[in-house]
Amino acid sequence: MKNKILVTGGAGYIGSHTCIALHEAGYEVVVYDNLSNSSREAINRVSTLIGQTIVFIEGDVRDDELLREVFASHEFFGVIHFAGLKAVGESVAKPLLYYNNNVSGTIALLEVMAEYDVKNFVFSSSATVYGDPETLPIHELSKRSCTNPYGQSKLAVEYILEDLAISDKSWNLIALRYFNPVGAHPSGQIGEDPNDIPNNLMPYISQVAVGKLDKLSIFGNDYPTVDGTGVRDFIHVTDLAQGHVAALSYLEQQISPEENCLNTAIAKQTSAKSGSVGFLPINLGTGKGTSVLELVTAFAEVSKQPIAYQFVERRAGDIASCYASADKAQALLGWQAKLSITDMCQDTWRWQNMNPNGYQAS
Ligand code: NAD
Ligand code: UDP
Repeated sequence: MKNKILVTGGAGYIGSHTCIALHEAGYEVVVYDNLSNSSREAINRVSTLIGQTIVFIEGDVRDDELLREVFASHEFFGVIHFAGLKAVGESVAKPLLYYNNNVSGTIALLEVMAEYDVKNFVFSSSATVYGDPETLPIHELSKRSCTNPYGQSKLAVEYILEDLAISDKSWNLIALRYFNPVGAHPSGQIGEDPNDIPNNLMPYISQVAVGKLDKLSIFGNDYPTVDGTGVRDFIHVTDLAQGHVAALSYLEQQISPEENCLNTAIAKQTSAKSGSVGFLPINLGTGKGTSVLELVTAFAEVSKQPIAYQFVERRAGDIASCYASADKAQALLGWQAKLSITDMCQDTWRWQNMNPNGYQAS
């Protein structure tokens, strides 16, 4: 059985947590990352947590020569492709950088995969592909539309994957559409480590709680929501990581139901038959919406720290509410999120407290 997985972007926030989940599920992991938004220390810590040195290759997914060397030296079952840039504001300022990194990078990777006949692929997509949803919860067949280059780059890759699946039935392509990943590993050893002042809500709140930032600006309190602040589907990063394990198990089961499934529990839950998966988009969310103020309150309770905040203007491009229908993930992958908002705050707080400067201090 081939159970080696190439994890591009595996040194990053979601990738590092997924490496642990993959190891625990019996997969062998090779991480490929250019460290443009991460540090080697994350890989060191993952290695310590799993008690085994992770194979790490420093490289860019646009470097097809290096990718060929990697594919020539390992026999992969498939690729989980986290590598990408993710800051919406930066993508507006530097669209070419984002299209080049996220779209051209994915094409380069898929081309090398095709050369080496590795055709099982799990892609990090995003709820951002749904734009401003017409109805809630958001189903996988909801209309897709994006307004910024980051979102467009995710959507463009989804279209490429759809076309690829049509052109060649031997590809198995899952696009996992993440909602709002937050939280950290329960050990407090790995977590989200923004380079600069955080753009995202949870790291901002935790930096206010630890005293690194003065106060949170809440973008808008006049949305048509429970308390006027934006509503999102926050999902614990370790639940998200398990979603990737479930996606791989599903692929194994579809391709060769009897021999290949590492996770027999999931195998039994899915009505598996041999064949190609084609292009399969799946939401990874909890199905529950939480408002910005509710998250602030939960974090203050868990951390026992006051979280100073002020209401400011809405942030351009933000939507009022966004939460997933998680039914498809449950039905096909046998996966559902287990952890609560309290767990998300507790684990973020532990990580923030133990690592006030992220990976830098080490
Ligand atoms: P992250 O920045 O922590 O991780 C991405 C990793 O990819 C980093 O380690 C970075 O160094 C690496 N990378 C970037 N470009 C690369 C390239 N050209 N070649 C090799 N490595 C490269 O981000 P994350 O939060 O872990 O996100 C992982 C993926 O999930 C991204 O594709 C992101 O767009 C997507 N996503 C993230 C969120 C979120 O809120 N965190 C939500 C939806 C989707
Ligand atoms: N938000 C906020 N202040 C911040 C960062 C975010 O009020 O400093 C709000 C934002 O307007 C949205 C929610 O928090 O309603 C989640 O934003 P985030 O950037 O974390 O994720 P997004 O859903 O935009 O991808």
